[in-house]
Amino acid sequence: MKKNFDKKNKMKIEEKQKEIERFNRRITACKTCRLSLTRNNVLCGEGRADAQFLLVALSPGTEEDLHNKMFIGPSGRVLDNLFKLTGIVRQSFYMTNLVKCMLPKNRRPKMDEIKSCSYFLDKEIAIIRPRLIVTLGYYASRYILEKFHANPPPARNDFGDLYGNLIFSKNQKILPLPHPASLLYNPSFEYETIKKYEKLHSLLTEIESVLNSSCH
Ligand code: SF4
Repeated sequence: MKKNFDKKNKMKIEEKQKEIERFNRRITACKTCRLSLTRNNVLCGEGRADAQFLLVALSPGTEEDLHNKMFIGPSGRVLDNLFKLTGIVRQSFYMTNLVKCMLPKNRRPKMDEIKSCSYFLDKEIAIIRPRLIVTLGYYASRYILEKFHANPPPARNDFGDLYGNLIFSKNQKILPLPHPASLLYNPSFEYETIKKYEKLHSLLTEIESVLNSSCH
């Protein structure tokens, strides 16, 4: 009985992985918006398609665009450090961006760019069906909260109060967190940022232990 369950499960994971790979080929070929003219690479999501946790940032930075890898630039180094300090394993996540091409000179995304590109994020969520979506920073948090009808605050300044609070809406757990890049500009926020990432660690542990107990 258990053998059959394991076999079916393995098949499901393989199907998901193939689906993501097929889908990533579509993302890589995308030229829908003006950002296709200035990118070196389209950055697809990274991680296992059967990940239980999805991490959503805004867009690739310069190093990510050049080397076609998620979170390898200055923000990625801050994120890795926050993970190290709080005991989080990067490989627990499927990591992706709201906008898959680099924003020139790190400018803000335009509404039409988010509108064009968020189709891909929606599809990634539909394939992966994560237990928890972790959003980093204002744009990713606002998009995901709106998508799940979770009433994001109208003003950007109010998002600071939201970070670190678990939200449950339309059957989806969402944890908005400050973007690691914010520590590059405001290192004095380090202590409170670590506290919020510690909360993420507790949440991951809690969800994983529920999942493990339901498998036995
Ligand atoms: S940002 Fe998104 S929609 Fe625009 S070209 Fe890149 S992949 Fe396509």
